[in-house]
Amino acid sequence: MIRKLFHRVFRRGSVLPSGQSVKNAALIPLARHGIHRESVSPGARRTCEALQKASYTAYVVGGAVRDLIAGIVPKDYDIATSATPEQVRSLFRRSRIIGRRFQIVHVMQGSETLEVSTFRAAHDADTAKDEHGRVLRDNVFGTMAEDAARRDFTVNALYYDPTTQIVHDYHHGVADLKQKTLRMIGEPTVRYREDPVRMLRAVRLSAKLGLTLDPAVRAPIREMAGLMENVPVARVFDEMLKLLFSGHAVECVKRLRDDGLHHGLLPLLDVILEQPMGEKFVLLALASTDARVKAGKSLSPGYLFATLLWHEVLANWENRKARRELPTPALYEAMDEVLDQQGEKLAITRRIAGDIKEIWALQPRFDKRAGKSPHRLLEQPRFRAAYDFLALRAESGEIDQELADWWHEFQMADLAEREAMLLPDSGPKKRRRRRVKKPADGLANVNDAPDAAESRASDEV
Ligand code: ATP
Ligand code: MG
Repeated sequence: MIRKLFHRVFRRGSVLPSGQSVKNAALIPLARHGIHRESVSPGARRTCEALQKASYTAYVVGGAVRDLIAGIVPKDYDIATSATPEQVRSLFRRSRIIGRRFQIVHVMQGSETLEVSTFRAAHDADTAKDEHGRVLRDNVFGTMAEDAARRDFTVNALYYDPTTQIVHDYHHGVADLKQKTLRMIGEPTVRYREDPVRMLRAVRLSAKLGLTLDPAVRAPIREMAGLMENVPVARVFDEMLKLLFSGHAVECVKRLRDDGLHHGLLPLLDVILEQPMGEKFVLLALASTDARVKAGKSLSPGYLFATLLWHEVLANWENRKARRELPTPALYEAMDEVLDQQGEKLAITRRIAGDIKEIWALQPRFDKRAGKSPHRLLEQPRFRAAYDFLALRAESGEIDQELADWWHEFQMADLAEREAMLLPDSGPKKRRRRRVKKPADGLANVNDAPDAAESRASDEV
């Protein structure tokens, strides 16, 4: 059986025009890689079996195989096959073809969605590229060996057959994984030029798997980071979310900084890592995001971006207040200015910008602990996110812990207890009325007026 398989897969090695070699696969037995078919998701197994039954080749590929060998539960499964998208589509009732240029098929198995792609050809001299060498189209079907050669890191070019329980390893990925090294397939500088996002993937995957970057993978990043500017913003945004929501954001940021790689790779990282005032806050925010990912809780990009940019807003707001602008309108101006400056660079969509602003705008309202204001704040749809944000501000030392504790208690309390917790009302309007009655105290009216306006404005937040 193994011999038959060996012959099926074993092709002559060759070199592509790009200089990358198309290699033969080593066949790694169960005893060495340790993936029992039972540890593969039932959907992935069923999909491979159905394709094989129809006489196509089909394997679990990429991140899932890598994660299983590393003892991590894969978050999703990719399948690579010799069947074309149409052929895959016709085999599975619950499936649909997605993508226009390079079509892949989503196959639904129970609650799982498997991404099935046809073996893709490696790049060659005819591949369309931009003036920096970035691959623009990547849509030719190829052999399994070519498919392996176009993947980024050796640990990502592993193909697991659930039927035989054999891993097909084209680039010594299993050995690299065991030696905890992230190594590029082919020449790293060429591969970064083809797709600069691979620089970020290198950092993210090394943090996720606890791998050391091979020196050849790490060395060019500092110099080539600028190439990220040519990547479409939507793709950068996706990668940024993957990094921040990987469950290893703190480790990623630490690695980037230790290696001096944080400049230019991702605009957001420059923002995060260059705000000394907000560093503690940002690291706490990233740590709590990591904890949420690990606990399987939901995550909102708006909330995370609100934390990452908060100290920029604070600094801007302080400047405005120092220029005697009214606090609440000044906060709105500061929010808009920071989002204008960063929003485009970070590809923050309008909808997410809306979420971010809601969280920021609610912050000053936590200072009001008298009258009806606290009750009204509790009813805000975004109260929970805004309160979590407040708690983070307290934990980082920006504001008094007492304020966050008060709001924690206030939420838990019943109506009568809430009434008892309210602070005495010392609204500026009353003071102003009292002072109006004193004929000799005319100047006080002038000074108090902004406060009253501010109080009204902040109630409208
Ligand atoms: P994770 O899912 O943990 O984020 P992953 O490696 O599985 O990591 P995916 O984006 O799911 O990442 O990609 C699946 C596979 O596709 C990878 O394992 C790799 O083989 C290949 N791949 C992804 N991105 C690239 C890229 N930029 N260049 C080359 N191959 C890639
Ligand atoms: Mg994956």
